[in-house]
Amino acid sequence: MSRLRIRCDAQTKMLKANKFQSIAAPEKPVNGAARRVDTDKHGFQGRGESPQGHGLRQPSAAFRPVSRLAETLIFSTAVWSLFACANLSAQEPFQFPTANHFLYERGGELNFFAPTAPDKPWTSGSFGCVRNDGQRLHEGLDILHLKTGRLGEPADPVMAAADGTVVYINMKPSLSNYGNYVVIRHIVEGMEIYSLYAHLSAVRAGLQAGQPVKAGEVIATMGRTSNAEVIEPWRAHVHFELNVLVNDNFAAWFKTASPGERNDHGEWNGQNLNGLDPREIFLREHNPAAKFSLLDFIRSQTELCRVLVRATNFPYLKRYPMLVLRNPVAEKEGVAGYEIALNFNGVAFALMPRAPSEIKSAAKFQLLSVNESEEKANPCRHLVVQRGGKWQLANEGLREVELLAY
Ligand SMILES: [Zn+2]
Repeated sequence: MSRLRIRCDAQTKMLKANKFQSIAAPEKPVNGAARRVDTDKHGFQGRGESPQGHGLRQPSAAFRPVSRLAETLIFSTAVWSLFACANLSAQEPFQFPTANHFLYERGGELNFFAPTAPDKPWTSGSFGCVRNDGQRLHEGLDILHLKTGRLGEPADPVMAAADGTVVYINMKPSLSNYGNYVVIRHIVEGMEIYSLYAHLSAVRAGLQAGQPVKAGEVIATMGRTSNAEVIEPWRAHVHFELNVLVNDNFAAWFKTASPGERNDHGEWNGQNLNGLDPREIFLREHNPAAKFSLLDFIRSQTELCRVLVRATNFPYLKRYPMLVLRNPVAEKEGVAGYEIALNFNGVAFALMPRAPSEIKSAAKFQLLSVNESEEKANPCRHLVVQRGGKWQLANEGLREVELLAY
């Protein structure tokens, strides 16, 4: 119930702000010190409040006496708003993994995201081709800390973004650029979605893979762990991802595709988790003007390229059957392969079965088309490359397709 309260508080703020201003908010570099936030001032204490407080405070002396009619009006308004909030929250599959909700405030990005350096824009802590002049991917959100402990370390509790099951905990920070991290499986609209929480200092005592967790349940404490980067205290953050899982047989594929390379995390290697944009998801699910569907969001990804794979039985088809399209020809003749639309990050968001008569090439993988404007806008996964005026799958693209169809 406390969850409902927080969502509705934030929704009220949204309604006041009228629409998502944050999408068009200017990128303004600000120094690290300016980003520090005093939690008390911004009132996230609502989490612990009783649900009865929802718009129905005990009347103060100034409110008495209240007429019967007024009482009825106040009560029905409160009941209605509780009902409306419950309805609105039903379309929010995910909640923020920390008490930092500044994404929902106008210009709040500066307090929400941890940029890579004090002179870098907030977008460098957001999802997508946001690093190295657009050439490097950042696959999640770096959500800035709000609390600092006695030793200057981040102290924010990290919470499950939705109901789910813990599937993986890495507590050997030297084995990953994620440092200590947790992966949780969620089922949203029938789809398996995996949230990931990285750079943690500690995981809640007793938390183990296989355990169910509730949305908002504390799973860990924010930290600065990583085997690749030094995360300075001013930009301490949780790195948060929302992913689709590419292949259950990742570990076996990795052995053949990257011989001699270590894989310490089985299928919970970041390469097997393809990220969606959590910022877009948070903003869209919070927009009271439009009903949010995660499935529609995934189905409407911008296509980077389309590939044909001569494979008919790979795990993704069973995990995400709602992304498989219908083709009467293949239904009649049988399926010889799949034509797959990938977004810039390699997320397969539409899979069309193809009949033998519809496939001309004998090649195992074939690049059918490239959306050049999308490649220009979001080139950082380097999935396709132009050679001699012809588009081809680049090594990265080939790996992505091989893993998908493995
Ligand atoms: Zn990050």
